[in-house]
Amino acid sequence: MTPRSSRRTYDRAMNAQTTRPRPARFDTVVIGGGVVGASIAQHLSRRGVSVAVLDQASGVGGGCSYANAAIVAPHHVVPLATPALLREAPRQMVRRPPAVRVQADPSLVPWLGALSASASPRRSRVATERLQRLAVESTELHRELAAQGLNPTLRKTGAVDVYLRKPRREPSGFVPFVDLLRLEPTLATGAGGTHDGEEWTLESRSFVTAMLEDAARHGADVRYGTTVERLLMEHGRIVGVATPSRTIRADHVVLAAGLGAAPLAGRVGVSLPLRGGRGYVVDLAIDSGGPRLPVRIKDYRVVVTPLADRVRVAGAIEFGDESRPMDEQRAEALRRVAGSVLPALSDALVIDRWAGERPCTPDGVPVIGASKAVENLLVATGHGMWGMILAPVTGRLIADAVLGMPEPAPWLAPDRFAHGMRRALATR
Ligand SMILES: Cc1cc2nc3c(=O)[nH]c(=O)nc-3n(C[C@H](O)[C@H](O)[C@H](O)COP(=O)(O)OP(=O)(O)OC[C@H]3O[C@@H](n4cnc5c(N)ncnc54)[C@H](O)[C@@H]3O)c2cc1C
Repeated sequence: MTPRSSRRTYDRAMNAQTTRPRPARFDTVVIGGGVVGASIAQHLSRRGVSVAVLDQASGVGGGCSYANAAIVAPHHVVPLATPALLREAPRQMVRRPPAVRVQADPSLVPWLGALSASASPRRSRVATERLQRLAVESTELHRELAAQGLNPTLRKTGAVDVYLRKPRREPSGFVPFVDLLRLEPTLATGAGGTHDGEEWTLESRSFVTAMLEDAARHGADVRYGTTVERLLMEHGRIVGVATPSRTIRADHVVLAAGLGAAPLAGRVGVSLPLRGGRGYVVDLAIDSGGPRLPVRIKDYRVVVTPLADRVRVAGAIEFGDESRPMDEQRAEALRRVAGSVLPALSDALVIDRWAGERPCTPDGVPVIGASKAVENLLVATGHGMWGMILAPVTGRLIADAVLGMPEPAPWLAPDRFAHGMRRALATR
């Protein structure tokens, strides 16, 4: 189907939805229409399940999926909790600008304790292997979507990692700066770095739109401006959801509400230890002289990604009170770092600045699957730094579970968090 005719089909589907009285019962209600919820809805609707997607925002990208570094790099996926994070965090916190920041917030203490317990070499190695397996499968699914015309901004680009100072331990494939310059001639400085050819770029909101359009073409009912206030329980099962204006009944409910999943789950006895890992994005308009390839500036954990109509600068991870306002200076500091390495970015026009809360678990592994406490409530959140790459495989796993196929692995399950951690979080 051509993009234009697919657009017409989508418009017809959406118009039909708004003129018809909307049903109050579905096989599955998906709460949240970010990259994760949109992928789940796409998988379910294509497999014949009647789905409603409910999102409190007024349109695409109301949560963390508004923007991100736009990178799909399966072999770079690692959990948040690693020995390297613990080793480097003190240095990263004093570096200007800091790549990692933690506010003095007592409610973070148990969560940070669980994070450092997960950062042992063994646990982090096992988590890395598992996450990379998922990421490789998910990248294949991204590519299949692209081959069907359903992932319009996925591009295979490769990417460069540049180190401004020579790292103490050189990563494999490390080459001197002159070799990097051949790949990315707009780099102004560096001690060397690496190149990975197996990387893609993908714009987040276009991905969400494409998934929801495809879901709608297959019968899904996508409703923005619809806040789920609570989950409805009867005899130990979820029977639907309550919005301010109505109740919607369903056989299964999928909680894909990013950071918003924790309060909803908590009220039915499923504790999700989620905290927001704030990151920043600055989009620049640039006519010429910008980078050809995505560039990761390793010393500052800043990523520069050329997209079709802009160059994106993204980075930082901060933990604290998630309701605090955006710090504009942090965004500007990232742009200055990018400009010092790629001078064409220094005086480029800023067209967007944004900060978003990555939904993070303390072990850095997403939560995908059902809790034993409420079996027909499926959870899909906590994707942290890797939600966009892992979205399609999450959609596949949740659709399998809804259709009665084997549950996702126990290491993804909501019940994996220790009771002590859950109790500590319940006191927040
Ligand atoms: C700076 C930065 C760079 C990143 N770079 C990358 C990258 O390069 N590659 C990658 O794979 N990932 C990256 N990520 C991570 C990725 O963007 C996130 O993991 C992902 O967007 C999370 O998606 P989600 O669907 O789980 O959550 P969200 O996008 O937050 O979606 C949740 C949705 O639920 C809705 N919602 C919440 N509560 C309710 C409720 N009660 N009722 C109804 N609706 C509700 C919200 O409106 C929202 O739309 C990055 C993130 C950041 C911040």
